[in-house]
Amino acid sequence: MAARILVVDDLAPNLNLLEVKLQAEYYNVVTARSGEEAVKMASKEPLDLILMDAMMPGIGGFEACKQIKENPKTWHVPIIMVTALEETKDRIAGLEAGADDFITKPIDDFNLMARVRSLLRLKMVTDQLLSHTGHTIQNSRSMLDTINRRSGNILLVEDSELRAERVIKPLKSLHNIVVETDPVTAIRRAKAGIDIVIVSLVSKNFDGLRVCASLRFNEENQETPILAIGDPEDEARLIRAYDIGVNDTLMRPIEQQEMLARVNTIMRRKFYADSLRENFNENLEMVISDPLTGLGNRRYFDRAIHPLLDALDTQNEAFSIMIFDIDHFKRVNDILGHDMGDQILKEIAARLVTNMRAVDIVSRYGGEEFMIAMPSTTQAEAVVAADRVRDLIAGTPIYVDGQALQITTSAGVAEVQKGEELRDVFRRADDALYKAKQAGRNQVLPAKQNKAA
Ligand code: GH3
Ligand code: MG
Ligand code: MG
Repeated sequence: MAARILVVDDLAPNLNLLEVKLQAEYYNVVTARSGEEAVKMASKEPLDLILMDAMMPGIGGFEACKQIKENPKTWHVPIIMVTALEETKDRIAGLEAGADDFITKPIDDFNLMARVRSLLRLKMVTDQLLSHTGHTIQNSRSMLDTINRRSGNILLVEDSELRAERVIKPLKSLHNIVVETDPVTAIRRAKAGIDIVIVSLVSKNFDGLRVCASLRFNEENQETPILAIGDPEDEARLIRAYDIGVNDTLMRPIEQQEMLARVNTIMRRKFYADSLRENFNENLEMVISDPLTGLGNRRYFDRAIHPLLDALDTQNEAFSIMIFDIDHFKRVNDILGHDMGDQILKEIAARLVTNMRAVDIVSRYGGEEFMIAMPSTTQAEAVVAADRVRDLIAGTPIYVDGQALQITTSAGVAEVQKGEELRDVFRRADDALYKAKQAGRNQVLPAKQNKAA
């Protein structure tokens, strides 16, 4: 789906101009004529980016920006302030209001698209991070704020001390910066713990574009973000820089607030992506390993059956679930001890897995409860399968510490009905399990139909 951008300006010609430019790039554009209207719209519809005119009658752009950034429902939407040329105090006001970047009037197409793309990428990573961590927009702010305050390591590739100083000044209170004048050393240094490389395209002693290209084609720092600094008169070189794969550009003369905003956006995107990766690995870890049995856990099961639900929905492909529960397990624990109980759990898990098909989803759903899903299986077929496994568990003693133990299980089996809520299926299977226990344990019972579905 195309990104949705809100353009805010009190003057219709400005609004139309931006609308046309953005629509030409296939963005989905909505407009507002005042700060008040923008605040209202932002809280009503999902937006990916806001372009906000600073000077408007009424609450004005800075106040509108502040209100959007303070609203727990809209704070994560990036805002670009559109300010008059060379108004430093406007940029400071914008930063204080929480704006993510600036663009000056008259609006230059190259800059406009560069800003828009950069902030849309930030928004995309933000959305991914929020959805993967299971956080809502409302409760994730403190998590992201912690990341935003993290200081990063910047490598600046620049051969003029004077120009380097201009870059360092706005950044040094927040980040660690090292300067490298030699491009070969720079490429080597970029490999270790660097979060952003800033490359000067105006250096006299080396070709900055070549440095960018070497960084991009080097496997070890392919992912490291690059910010290229160039001259506005030499837009062709900045365009080349994008072709090579730099993440963002900045035009000279360097404006402190702009520098800071640009670096912060790249840094946030990098850190969000890093934590997305960490989160993903952590989730994977949680997913595959119930540490005791090595089976998937409840979260894994709940996710793993989604494709089965889809197949039922779209192709009428039947599938069934079953809950296995160990009989009198409390008594086993009480008599033999918890450690022996654990050994038994491990053995039951192993027997379930080895006696089900490879396509079946076997999980340890709770303490001594195992949930299994069987794709392409009707209730009657699943009952037969479950009973075979039950018989196998009961019929073969489990050896723990040299003792042969006879352990039995009971199970409830339910075929998932089309349009049925998952919790209703679980309840039907659980009711069947309860009946199996009441009927004397060591048995499998089918669930009742869900008449409502
Ligand atoms: P029933 O036949 O009705 O299922 O009786 P039960 O004793 O198995 O049922 P209940 O649900 O009352 O007790 C389950 C017991 O499972 C309680 C707890 O001690 C034990 N249990 C749960 N998780 C673990 C575990 O990780 N390790 C061990 N050793 N025991 C566990
Ligand atoms: Mg139980
Ligand atoms: Mg039990």
